[in-house]
Amino acid sequence: LIAVVGSLNLDLVVPVRHHATPGETVLGGDLVRHPGGKGANQAVAAARLGARVALVGRVGDDDAGGLLRSAVRAAGVDVSHVRTTEGTPSGHALITVDERAENAITVSPGANSRLAAADCEAASELLAAAAVTLLQHEVPVEVDHAAARLAGGLLVHNPAPALVGRQLPSGVDVLVPNRAELGALTGRPEPATRGELVAAARELTGVGAVVVTLGADGVLLVDGSTDLHLPARPVDPVDTTAAGDCFCGALAVALAEGRPLDRAARWAAVAAALSTTRHGAQPSLPTRAELDAALS
Ligand code: ADP
Repeated sequence: LIAVVGSLNLDLVVPVRHHATPGETVLGGDLVRHPGGKGANQAVAAARLGARVALVGRVGDDDAGGLLRSAVRAAGVDVSHVRTTEGTPSGHALITVDERAENAITVSPGANSRLAAADCEAASELLAAAAVTLLQHEVPVEVDHAAARLAGGLLVHNPAPALVGRQLPSGVDVLVPNRAELGALTGRPEPATRGELVAAARELTGVGAVVVTLGADGVLLVDGSTDLHLPARPVDPVDTTAAGDCFCGALAVALAEGRPLDRAARWAAVAAALSTTRHGAQPSLPTRAELDAALS
């Protein structure tokens, strides 16, 4: 059983020639709406790979809330701990994508910002029983800390998006930042070289192991005594949205199945590489059968 404590957002995506500057209006292409949010994406990633998954989160009492809940449920995720917050809009991400495929994103957390320590306490049986509890940075910090206290199994934390000054919960077994997030956690410029990455990861005391995701460069695994680089599987990426979420969900599945961290990270990297070969966030997440086929 995997417990994910995190966000659900409705992504509203508009293609534009160039991003609007302050005071400017630009005309874009057709709007596309799809379910997202790091918590929901990671829960769906884990469920697609065959794990039993429950999500702790909040949606608003609007149309988006119904849509977000049913998208996650359709992937097989238990949504009994996804509460509806009265009088609050659901989380939304307003995304424009320009001709160079660069995103400009504004997130309105809405109901995600109302998730509270009490929601974790209401899910305490789930958190105690879960083999892995998975956290991110899209809900209030006190929620992370409450979930960490209540987690009975391994605690995996994806400190995304990068937030300078946000305190890590104690008891993190595996921290999964990308370069920018690792930089934000150490309060220093983004680490570039392998030496800088290892030094930055080792600065984070109280964390069991750090798994730095490096996009097309793969993954760097750092613990107190060793560091190991796992190259990415070569693919032709069409859309890297949710590659990090896919990696985290898959890593949680592999750890819940009892794989050691290095093998779990290798497996998750293949799942994440597959997710970059398809468009969208949740639609791009591979199934167990697809991952098995890619590995055979
Ligand atoms: P984020 O989107 O959170 O910054 P990354 O870009 O580091 O995350 O991607 C997460 C993981 O997905 C990487 O560690 C890698 O394993 C896989 N991945 C991402 N981009 C590619 C790519 N272009 N080719 C192969 N694997 C990729």
